[in-house]
Amino acid sequence: MANVTLDGVTKVFQDESGDIVAVDDLNLDIRDGEFLVLVGPSGCGKSTTLRMVAGLETPTEGTIHLGDRPITNLTPQERDIAMVFQSYALYPHMTVRGNMSFGLEESTELSDAEIRERVEDAAELLGIDNLLDRQPGELSGGQQQRVALGRAIVREPEAFLLDEPLANLDAKLRADMRTELQQLQESLGTTTIYVTHDQTEAMTMSDRIAVLNDGELQQVGTPLECYHRPNNQFVAGFIGEPSMNFLPVTLEDGTLVGEHFEYSLSEDVRADLEGHSELILGIRPEDIDIVDSPTGEHEFPALVGVVEPQGNENTVHLAFEGQDRTESELTATIGGMRSVEEGTSVGIELPESAIHVFDAKTGDALH
Ligand code: ATP
Repeated sequence: MANVTLDGVTKVFQDESGDIVAVDDLNLDIRDGEFLVLVGPSGCGKSTTLRMVAGLETPTEGTIHLGDRPITNLTPQERDIAMVFQSYALYPHMTVRGNMSFGLEESTELSDAEIRERVEDAAELLGIDNLLDRQPGELSGGQQQRVALGRAIVREPEAFLLDEPLANLDAKLRADMRTELQQLQESLGTTTIYVTHDQTEAMTMSDRIAVLNDGELQQVGTPLECYHRPNNQFVAGFIGEPSMNFLPVTLEDGTLVGEHFEYSLSEDVRADLEGHSELILGIRPEDIDIVDSPTGEHEFPALVGVVEPQGNENTVHLAFEGQDRTESELTATIGGMRSVEEGTSVGIELPESAIHVFDAKTGDALH
């Protein structure tokens, strides 16, 4: 079994200003064959976590296992894990073939014929078999990316670690490579930890996402679990594009009272909020409906601010009536065929089935 287990893993760096806790008591089990994406904003500790699994950093505390094997104190070479870096880290003076076979010649007992076979099989799998005699300088960014992947694949490791491998590619190629990488991982069935700060990559590629913030694990779950049932306000705001809307409210007699609106709650929701008063009401842009006139429950008069057309959909900035339109508080996404004009009055519906409620102080999800 090639599951990767992190138990109580902490990494503290020291610099002139004192201790920096890059990773704080991380417990995570990446299952055998799983594609796990480690996601979070810049500086949250993603790369440090990956580098500890690779053996490039030593944890200050905690242990890491690969299957039953403790690997915390092994050298990178002893771990049977291959890492692909954002920079690709190819040797510029070697051919593609040389770059892909180098690690095998150094660290395995394979014969020359076996190495050639592995390199050619991987090159074929990645569609770079016609490039084996070129040098990295003669390749496009996407092709170099494949060589870096090829170098990891030929080692047939127990786990792959990928650190923002698509970051240097243009948007179109990145989208293509997302699909390709995912298919490749599925066909190889190798346990993979993939680091990115891009929530779209996390959502589309992973079996499960682990969301980190400030060195602390916020949630581990399938993309849909993190999207529909975020543990806290941080995950709710990080997963989903455009981000979830957050409105500060207080709970008064079963009603959420905001600065420009009052939102009555059903018994079910009230029960979840018992004992809390300072709250954040969350609603995703795609869950807000624009209606002609706001007459029903959970419908409010609003003013349309800037409208950003994206073709298939429009992003609409909205302000509650009574609020300055330039301080628009809500973002909604609506179908691209619907026309909503800037400066007009509309009704907006915030359906109760779609709302999230968080504790304003702790950020914990209550409903
Ligand atoms: P990014 O997406 O920007 O690469 P990240 O989530 O990968 O960020 P890390 O590179 O793991 O974040 O860094 C986590 C924290 O640890 C940051 O505050 C960073 O400044 C700090 N850090 C990382 N490496 C070192 C180091 N060698 N010495 C001191 N501090 C470090």
